[in-house]
Amino acid sequence: MNRSRSREIFARAKQLMPGGVNSPARAFAAVGGEPIVFARGQGAYLWDVDGNRYIDYICSWGPHILGHAHPPVVEAVERASRNGTSFGAPTEAENTLCELIVDAVPSVERVRLVNSGTEATMSAIRLARGYTGRDAIVKFAGNYHGHVDSLLVAAGSSAATLGVPNSPGVTAGASQDTLILQYNDVAGLEAAFAAHGERIAGVIVEPVVGNMGTVVPTREFLSALRTLTERNGAVLIFDEVMTGFRVAYGGAQSLFGIRPDLTTLGKIVGGGLPVGAYGGRAEIMKHVLPEGKVFQAGTLSGNPLACAAGIATLSELRDDPPYERLEQLSRRLAVGLVAAAGRAGVEHTLARVGSMMTLFFSGEPVRNWPTAAKCDTQAFARFFWGLANRGVYWPCSQFEALFVSAAHTEADIDETISAAQEALAGASHR
Ligand SMILES: *Cc1c(COP(=O)(O)O)cnc(C)c1O
Repeated sequence: MNRSRSREIFARAKQLMPGGVNSPARAFAAVGGEPIVFARGQGAYLWDVDGNRYIDYICSWGPHILGHAHPPVVEAVERASRNGTSFGAPTEAENTLCELIVDAVPSVERVRLVNSGTEATMSAIRLARGYTGRDAIVKFAGNYHGHVDSLLVAAGSSAATLGVPNSPGVTAGASQDTLILQYNDVAGLEAAFAAHGERIAGVIVEPVVGNMGTVVPTREFLSALRTLTERNGAVLIFDEVMTGFRVAYGGAQSLFGIRPDLTTLGKIVGGGLPVGAYGGRAEIMKHVLPEGKVFQAGTLSGNPLACAAGIATLSELRDDPPYERLEQLSRRLAVGLVAAAGRAGVEHTLARVGSMMTLFFSGEPVRNWPTAAKCDTQAFARFFWGLANRGVYWPCSQFEALFVSAAHTEADIDETISAAQEALAGASHR
């Protein structure tokens, strides 16, 4: 596959941006080689600058559940842009988007719009601390909540330990109040509350993990999260930036029947434009400025373009839900991938919730970060390039979830499975 234009553009990009990118996952560090530069997306497909077509399973890392350049979304954005892109003042579109969110997500009574998932989690953490008057936050190793200083820690011990920052520039002070636990570890959670219960402002968790690859929560873990936070007066924050409107219209909380206190949203909620949101119980949300004292603001928050894309996306998901079709397509892909890996003799385990899934190169089920870390990332990298060279654009790290969109067809899925079969044969024989 010729990618000479991609190479040229990326060579220039490296002189302009750190690593040639505006977000690190795009640089392909986890799979080696150079990123593919894209020119266009339509439905389930992307075209690179050399004219190669790919079936896309990244979907901009989640937002494009309806496919790229979905006509109703494009039209809504075009229409809104003609009336001005931002006023820094209230608009009716904000009501419409917030109403869609409140109606969709069971635990959300009041909501605040922001510009990214990171902003949503950062603000939710601040609110949990402001509301409880406590400092400590519990997070789980391998869960990602955006690049918030206090959450950029992932020490790998199963006991509750004080976090060590994993990025230069994050001060020890910023992370000293972050307790790191292992995902799906009920005993660890109980121990942390027994030892630090009075200090814990909140627990932030991906209710289905996407950011160490797809990891499915146990029912016991989710209910322990709810019971222990409630008993100790801590705020339970579901980070549904990825799972919201993805695993179900009402997110993971509607799928598993757990009501968190606060929920963070992003990705799909903006229909491909920069939108995040955090919301929850009115009793907590009323502490946000100007109703309360917890500061949070944004010049472009709730701007008409972002709202238009979000409204067009959510209203279609509500009125013509694609979730059953997504389930069928995703099951077809999962079954095909497992069969292909089996035939190729590759150690594998597949995790899936609805239209997010990961084929792990490990024979052992992945329940948390230590089991995720056992995957053969070299074999994954060969698999990734095997797929790319056959016109399938897969998440460029073993530790990222893939997404199926409503624009994918059964023919796309079958083409992907054939490509995966060949790529897996190549991945294992080296
Ligand atoms: C993507 C993601 C974020 C960060 O969102 P950005 O819009 O990239 O800042 C936070 N939490 C989860 C679970 C995510 O998947």
